[in-house]
Amino acid sequence: MFSQSYDLAVVGSGVIGLAHAYVAARAGKRVAVIERDAHANGASIRNFGFVTVTGQERGDSWRLARRARDVWAEVAPKAGLGIEQQGLFLTARSAEAMAVVEAFLATEMGEGCRLLAPGEFRALGDGLGGPDLKGVLHSPHELRVESRIAIPALTAWLEQAWGVGFFRETVVFEATPPRLRTSRGTIEAGATIVCPGDDFVTLYPDRIASFALRKCRLSMLKLASPGLRLPGALMSDLSLTRYRGYSALPEARALETKLRAEQPSHFDNGVHLIVAQGADGGLIVGDSHHYDHLPSPFAPAAAERDILDEYARAMGRGAPPVLERWTGVYAVADDRSYLIDTPEPGVRLVIVTSGTGASTGFGIAEKVIGDLFGAEVVT
Ligand SMILES: Cc1cc2nc3c(=O)[nH]c(=O)nc-3n(C[C@H](O)[C@H](O)[C@H](O)COP(=O)(O)OP(=O)(O)OC[C@H]3O[C@@H](n4cnc5c(N)ncnc54)[C@H](O)[C@@H]3O)c2cc1C
Repeated sequence: MFSQSYDLAVVGSGVIGLAHAYVAARAGKRVAVIERDAHANGASIRNFGFVTVTGQERGDSWRLARRARDVWAEVAPKAGLGIEQQGLFLTARSAEAMAVVEAFLATEMGEGCRLLAPGEFRALGDGLGGPDLKGVLHSPHELRVESRIAIPALTAWLEQAWGVGFFRETVVFEATPPRLRTSRGTIEAGATIVCPGDDFVTLYPDRIASFALRKCRLSMLKLASPGLRLPGALMSDLSLTRYRGYSALPEARALETKLRAEQPSHFDNGVHLIVAQGADGGLIVGDSHHYDHLPSPFAPAAAERDILDEYARAMGRGAPPVLERWTGVYAVADDRSYLIDTPEPGVRLVIVTSGTGASTGFGIAEKVIGDLFGAEVVT
């Protein structure tokens, strides 16, 4: 039994758990975060740290991402997190890709974005781009943090500046307010938010099963510095068929047909390209997508080959040496980008099901905390 009692217990210290802890602490609540591992070690530290606005699904997700981006910008200097990059450059190599970019720019989501001519991009990007580059979508909205540094920094800031209690190497077995039963005893809390990431079995397994979730395994790489500073994070044609903000546009159908015929292996491995750069100049590059009930630990080498191939096509030069390789797993649903469920009074279950938790987490957290404690506490 832990002596102190809390207004809110958050299960899981990934980015979704931390976002809820921050929004609740900001609202004056006494908050505890309970984490199974010594520190968050899952999707939240394995991702690109790319807070993506442009390309998010039209409507709710796009709006949540804009709000989450603003919260990251507000929190980063206070928590001592570096914003490593700003903005997105999406290179387009075909008339079909350009048609998607132009259609996107004509929507409300295109606000603040613009189309760059190849020469304009090459001038910004030290001559980057292949010979077939047709144009580049530039979005100023994105931020990028180095997740493996940012998540521990956010955790330390919540603990030190906001007095959030962290219980590490502690598993929550049961959450029935005002009590949580853990592997180290009972914690008292008036409300609980469960942010379990891809753990579908420890808490509310039947409830989670009713959402028919699957898991997605992604392959990621760290490459040596290319010897230049990128103007922002980069994406390419394949991303236009993957991110729902583009892929739901009617123009994306012709592009997908073309790319499936020309790059079938990339589609088999669910490969598209994100290139992000850290303060040390190194590149975080990915990714692939393999879906399963329980993804195996055996990632195909072909996925890495396809990622590096797309890098060369988009950048117009070969990739620098690979320094690190890893995989990450996140929850996926076919019918929603995230779920907020109430398995019992005073408990919320929050799972991002679209691989966008770094981009939307703070926005989702404001919704959930407002719902639990009253909308007035959130602003
Ligand atoms: C390779 C990769 C790249 C990605 N790139 C991006 C990107 O650039 N931008 C973006 O927006 N999103 C990206 N995503 C998605 C994003 O990382 C996830 O949506 C997000 O990290 C999910 O956060 P989470 O806190 O829900 O889960 P997690 O990070 O998995 O954290 C859940 C935590 O809960 C703990 N836990 C679970 N159950 C219990 C329990 N019963 N008791 C105690 N602790 C428990 C776990 O130990 C874990 O630490 C990417 C994901 C991957 C894998």
